[in-house]
Amino acid sequence: MQNQLFESELHKKTDLLGMDRQAMEAFFKEIGEKPFRAGQIMKWIHQFGISEFDEMTNLSKALREKLKKIAVVRTPKIVAEQVSEDGTIKWLLEVDNSNSVETVFIPEKNRGTLCISSQVGCALDCKFCATGKQGFNRNLENWEIIAQMWVANKALGCLPKEERRISNVVFMGMGEPLLNVKHTFPAARILMDDFAYGLSKRRVTISTAGVVPAIDMIKAELDVSLAISLHAPNNPLRDVLVPINEKYPLEVLMPSLYRYVEGGHSKKHVTVEYVMIDHVNDRVEHAQELVALLGELPCKVNLIPFNPFPDTDYKRSSNNAIHRFREVLEKGGLNVTVRKTRGDDIDAACGQLAGKVKDRTKRTLHKIEFNR
Ligand code: SAH
Repeated sequence: MQNQLFESELHKKTDLLGMDRQAMEAFFKEIGEKPFRAGQIMKWIHQFGISEFDEMTNLSKALREKLKKIAVVRTPKIVAEQVSEDGTIKWLLEVDNSNSVETVFIPEKNRGTLCISSQVGCALDCKFCATGKQGFNRNLENWEIIAQMWVANKALGCLPKEERRISNVVFMGMGEPLLNVKHTFPAARILMDDFAYGLSKRRVTISTAGVVPAIDMIKAELDVSLAISLHAPNNPLRDVLVPINEKYPLEVLMPSLYRYVEGGHSKKHVTVEYVMIDHVNDRVEHAQELVALLGELPCKVNLIPFNPFPDTDYKRSSNNAIHRFREVLEKGGLNVTVRKTRGDDIDAACGQLAGKVKDRTKRTLHKIEFNR
């Protein structure tokens, strides 16, 4: 079993799970094989959930033997699987000896969304988020990010594309994906590759707390959907709730969102996420300020009722407050949805993901690095 290889042996072999098509083609060229093998292997791995070369039956025996010597499809251990009363499923995946990450599948009537993590912990320390509270350990690598899709897709049956239950993927699990572009971009490419999961760019969403230079990198290098975790309509409040605002304040962030939607396909828009916290950011004046701030930006506003976690003083806004807030936004011409809370009985709701971070030595790290 490849998964049980010793660490030392694993590191000598090339891991194919996290390779996007370009990297996979380069790999096959390097070992003297035709680049079309890349698509073949990607189909086996991602569409059929196969990690053993012996089961890849349209490859010659010779190639299979060769691959077994030099490569591996490394997959994570599923430490726990929890199913919520509402059908939401949360997996805890062990990525190394001391760290695990969480991935959540949220089934709905007409779609199924997988919420994936990009880092072990998070360095941003947003005041209302459980992941921030546990500190930051490290970036996830390509294979560890895409492994979440691989595991979930396999657990849900590896069905043919039309019947597949995961129709959307959002980078809204643990971590800040735009502080790990080196690994999230290839993972996003694999999600959208027809030889892998073939999701359209409208169905793959990167959610960011506002890492402006990396928003511009998305514009330049990766055609995916963008969600911005705004949560406050002015700098003083946003500085408190989303501390990265001190580095990229609203007057810097907002123009980057306009740059993102510019010149794209006709319906390109940004999803604006706004967590509703009782008596903190949910007053009518906040809603009015938000209308003014968003101005002409093509966007949809997603109000997220705050999900509590241990040791937080924040409370969820009342239904009345959410309703009032929504009305003001709609009167201001904005398109608004209120996110339904899912999976909170198994701590799988937004902001409740904590995984298992044993090494917290880097919890005070607040350096902003894109990890290119
Ligand atoms: N770092 C990225 C992605 C992770 S957070 C980002 O900030 O966008 C995914 C979404 O869940 C964000 O909009 C985040 O603000 C929201 N969220 C975090 N904690 C929450 C909580 N306790 N209740 C509700 N939503 C929360």
